[in-house]
Amino acid sequence: MESAQQEGNVCQGCDKKKPEDTPNLTYYTEHHTNLLLCDDCIAKIEKEHNLKCPKCGKVVGVEGMTEYKTEPMCYSCEEKEMDKEDRAEKRISFAKKNWKIWIGIAAGVVAALVFLAR
Ligand SMILES: [Zn+2]
Ligand SMILES: [Zn+2]
Repeated sequence: MESAQQEGNVCQGCDKKKPEDTPNLTYYTEHHTNLLLCDDCIAKIEKEHNLKCPKCGKVVGVEGMTEYKTEPMCYSCEEKEMDKEDRAEKRISFAKKNWKIWIGIAAGVVAALVFLAR
């Protein structure tokens, strides 16, 4: 019997109480972790840290992920999205401004025609 199989054989990640459920407890020290973990929890941590941004495919990990309009992505993609939105908004406001200018010109033309028709 190995000493690792003795008391305290509970995964610190998922708190599996029954030792027979967690036959492979390992001291996991990667990614600033220092816990006795089962294979499932280690796999979960590995997965979280190998999380890829679905938008750009960069491995950013769970800490590097954020959400923009319920869409998961990394921070640099979020920045890009916000930038895009900002530009789109500016385009819209520009079009609105133009629309007002055109109305103004049309009104001016109508006024001039009315003036000339007299
Ligand atoms: Zn676990
Ligand atoms: Zn990204």
